[in-house]
Amino acid sequence: MTVDDLLADDEEGENWNRANILLDSVEQLELIGPTVPPNDLLVRLFHEERPRVFDTQPVTFGCTCSEDRVRQSLSIYSARDIEKMTTDKGLVTADCQFCGAHYEMDPKSVGQGSDGG
Ligand SMILES: [Zn+2]
Repeated sequence: MTVDDLLADDEEGENWNRANILLDSVEQLELIGPTVPPNDLLVRLFHEERPRVFDTQPVTFGCTCSEDRVRQSLSIYSARDIEKMTTDKGLVTADCQFCGAHYEMDPKSVGQGSDGG
């Protein structure tokens, strides 16, 4: 049985529970290493399931947010709604919850009926 098999065809969620019980037996420090290398940890936990390890892939931070996207998501709001969102400084602001980017726009340029920019 592989880990894929363990998680596939899991009608009662029993396999998922089993995977979680095994994972719960890991101490937090073991998860971040370096005492137990990740592969050793996998083998220790899931040796009966014969885990498959894929090649590592580089991970980079990225966010797909943009002012255009913010404008797009604001386009459903009426001028009245946009007015409520307008700050004391006369701007509509938006913060990306993922990357923290901050956007400031003229309220006249967003929402329904705006010229879109
Ligand atoms: Zn972002």
